[in-house]
Amino acid sequence: MPELPEVESVARMVRVALTGPLASPVSAVELLDQKLLDRSTSMEALYSLAGTCFGAVSRSGKYLIIRMDGREVPLYLILHLRMTGRIMIVSAGGDPARHTRLRIVLRNGAALLFDDPRRFGQLWVTHAPHDVVGTLGPDALTVSLETFSGVLSRVNRQLKPLLLDQRVIAGIGNIYADEILFRARLHPLAVSGSLAADDVSRLHGAVVSILAEAVQAGGANIDGVFKAGEFPVMVYGRSGQPCYACGLPVSKIRVAQRGTHICSGCQKLASDHSGTESAAHS
Ligand SMILES: [Zn+2]
Repeated sequence: MPELPEVESVARMVRVALTGPLASPVSAVELLDQKLLDRSTSMEALYSLAGTCFGAVSRSGKYLIIRMDGREVPLYLILHLRMTGRIMIVSAGGDPARHTRLRIVLRNGAALLFDDPRRFGQLWVTHAPHDVVGTLGPDALTVSLETFSGVLSRVNRQLKPLLLDQRVIAGIGNIYADEILFRARLHPLAVSGSLAADDVSRLHGAVVSILAEAVQAGGANIDGVFKAGEFPVMVYGRSGQPCYACGLPVSKIRVAQRGTHICSGCQKLASDHSGTESAAHS
């Protein structure tokens, strides 16, 4: 499932195409699956993209934001890939395939396609991107230690669900949450309020360094559906295999309904650090 580093890779790919295939006005927009369109976006708004040009590309958490220029007030095309969403840019042709949900065709014959086998992806067209991404917490790739400490001091929660809550910190999903906690040598059930200052600083360091390395690697290639880059995972999906640091087998527990990979040798849960939510071994 794409998380911040994979969406960042998509943003970079689209940005590169701005001076190539995407450097031409939109001639047609074809929505092949109504489910893709968020309820707040009308078909009329989507079709009003015709005549606009692809502008600045940014990312907020796991949302991809593309400014569409050419109107008096810029429009923003916002996409969330969710589980299996994928963007493809082709310089010619671009006939819809089996899982194509959206096709944006340009005057030069190029096309941007959104494919999504599982159909959880979401699309917005809006003048006000803040309405879509305004509730997100600080972006996990660039959050400062000061902001991160402030966020942690305002919530008293188990670390795994805290890292996954997009309103607290934006961009981390199940894979990178496990990798971050392993690097920080913190247990996913430890509670944020019980962390010492050096735990917080180590956790912040792990958040920023893991995500920066994963962006550099073009993302991870894990679930066999969303194929991205080469980021090497240490614990995620490795239950039963030896920990690269201490050799003990990586185990899989459930935390807040999510499969969670930990090394019980490297990530100790001090008895006064545990939360009240229960964790069952699976
Ligand atoms: Zn270990």
